[in-house]
Amino acid sequence: MSVIETPQVYLVGAGPGNPLLLSKKAERCIRRADVILYDQLVNPFLLQLSAPNTEWIHVGKTPYTTYMRQDDINALMIEKARTYQTVVRLKGGDPAIFGRLADEVEALKKHHITFEVVPGITAASAAMSQLQCGLTERGIARNITFTTGHFKDDEEKPLDITTLQQGGTLAIYMGVKRLPKLMKEVREAIEDDLPVAVIFNATCVDQQVLAGRVSTIAHQVAALNETPGPGITIVGHVVRDVLAATANRPSPERICIVGERSKCIDEAMAIYEAGGWAIIDDRNMTALHPTQNKILTQLIRETSFTSRIVMKPEVEV
Ligand code: SAH
Repeated sequence: MSVIETPQVYLVGAGPGNPLLLSKKAERCIRRADVILYDQLVNPFLLQLSAPNTEWIHVGKTPYTTYMRQDDINALMIEKARTYQTVVRLKGGDPAIFGRLADEVEALKKHHITFEVVPGITAASAAMSQLQCGLTERGIARNITFTTGHFKDDEEKPLDITTLQQGGTLAIYMGVKRLPKLMKEVREAIEDDLPVAVIFNATCVDQQVLAGRVSTIAHQVAALNETPGPGITIVGHVVRDVLAATANRPSPERICIVGERSKCIDEAMAIYEAGGWAIIDDRNMTALHPTQNKILTQLIRETSFTSRIVMKPEVEV
């Protein structure tokens, strides 16, 4: 077998947030990482698939901290690639869809750093799995457009609704805030009041689905007490019969599992499989990288857990 040199950087798609939807390849990269640079939409539990001494660096936007500029992220990634053997740049969904992948690839190429791109499940696919519909469907929608309601420097550009006009599907990323304007544009161009769904936190514990029409959906979203998290808007005839997905879910479990990481992963995955959310508190078990300690402490402090499970260490016989 020929020896293939492992890349210095992996640009990895973390999927929509549910750890069960992480690819095997992504998981292997995370396990091997010396440092992980992760975005805001990445579920911190995924970081716990890494070793206790892996450095975790949050490079995403939060409501409380200043946003790290793309140039600074690129520079940090390059610096880490020079210091460490394996760098993982972990991004929500698929890095190739509204993920600034090209910017990072260009920076790595410029500095002759070897890399590999690992795809992830994008929000539109995750959302449709929950609606139990196809993004394309024979005889209903032959094309799909992935678009965004958010542009560089907040520049205003009309939506590209060519696909929708031809009976296809439109998936709008980052469009919840501008929904009234976006839906007005669709209405003005298409007479038919098409079905629309907005799926927040698709496949995750706090998933919420709103279903309506182009004429109603912006009001439905505005009537929510608060925005439930990242949301994707799907417009087109494929969105139908989505009542099953909008039905109330049982109140979700948020569980803190106290124990050694490797012994708690299976339990955590089972909680995710049952529709819950889990994080492992191993701060007193293992010597963690200081960044892990800090990030876990803050997360545990900010979360209202429904329960706490203490995993007993295995007794040797
Ligand atoms: N690369 C990502 C998209 C990044 S842009 C991907 O492939 O999914 C960020 C936008 O993605 C959010 O504003 C939201 O529109 C969408 N998004 C990401 N995760 C989501 C989720 N779990 N549920 C719903 N929408 C999500």
